[in-house]
Amino acid sequence: MTAAPEINVTKVETSRLKSMSLENLPFGRVFTDHMLEADYENGEWKNVEIKPYQPLLFEPSLAAFHYGQAIFEGIKAYRNEEGEAFIFRPYDNFTRFNLSAERMCMPVVPEEIFIEGMRQLIDLDKSWIPAKKDHSLYIRPFMIATDSMLGVRPSETYKFLIILSPTGPYFAAPMKISVEERYTRAAPGGVGFSKNAGNYGGSMMAAKQANKSGYDQVLWTDAFEHKWLQEVGMMNVFFLINGVAVTPSLEEGTILKGVTRDSVATLLQESGIKVEERRISIDELIEAYKAGQLQEVFGTGTAATIAYIKELKYKDHVMQFDLDKWKVAPAIRNLLNDIRDCRIADTHNWMFKI
Ligand code: PMP
Repeated sequence: MTAAPEINVTKVETSRLKSMSLENLPFGRVFTDHMLEADYENGEWKNVEIKPYQPLLFEPSLAAFHYGQAIFEGIKAYRNEEGEAFIFRPYDNFTRFNLSAERMCMPVVPEEIFIEGMRQLIDLDKSWIPAKKDHSLYIRPFMIATDSMLGVRPSETYKFLIILSPTGPYFAAPMKISVEERYTRAAPGGVGFSKNAGNYGGSMMAAKQANKSGYDQVLWTDAFEHKWLQEVGMMNVFFLINGVAVTPSLEEGTILKGVTRDSVATLLQESGIKVEERRISIDELIEAYKAGQLQEVFGTGTAATIAYIKELKYKDHVMQFDLDKWKVAPAIRNLLNDIRDCRIADTHNWMFKI
């Protein structure tokens, strides 16, 4: 890989921030003054620019529109009381981004562009990071295929971009979840472990059907027997069974390797709770529930940190949980939010200083 070129910076003349408030913003609707953009052409990354946030102009034949070479990441940045800015575990997202890129036959993005570009972009738009408790700056790096030609083959040109969106506290109401028995998110050999756009388009129908029956999301199961548990909506899932935290293993390549999943597993272990990454079936869950051993069920992800599941439905089985009795998930949620919001010491080196 040749060394990444200089990052050229063009600043806005007047910041839009002056005319707005950063309190309680809805997720993903407001974007900061600047964005990062880079082009991949003739085997190298070039034209790395930080510039005013603006629309992109493409031909209708753009490869990404037709054949789905499009990947992304979701990361958050926070500000401490002294006004210093930090990104939460960006190297983990960087690694996952390039894993997605390889799976989708797209070029890897070098650290000098992904991490250093993100650092410079956030530094420039630092005043957009809301200072209020539980507010953050959502970072969306993404890459799209940009060949203007119809034909199913890997594109030869790509665009990498980073956009930033200030966001308010994410109130994750306890969820009602139905176990999915018809649709499939990921199968072995497929693309479930990658964060490509198609995975999200493909999952919407199941969520829509679940909503119609009064459920918030689905618990994805394996493609063959619809029995082995994978993820909950767009989050990883944990089950506290008899004091042990169980989360589906990554081996089959059907699960996204969540950064929050890893952080939660680390904090659980440090709190003295055993964590098992293994295959887990809906039958095991039902047995544990009947035996009174299924204590807590929750999803993990960058947006919500930890989202509680208050009801799980599978065929005629309805499993309900009394959230008032939960000890583990609330404790880990507070701990992780305190680390991310810089309220307690970052002993894991998860906070990357801008
Ligand atoms: N699974 C899926 C399918 C997701 O989209 C996400 C969100 N990125 C997660 C799990 C959680 O991953 P993370 O903790 O890295 O946000």
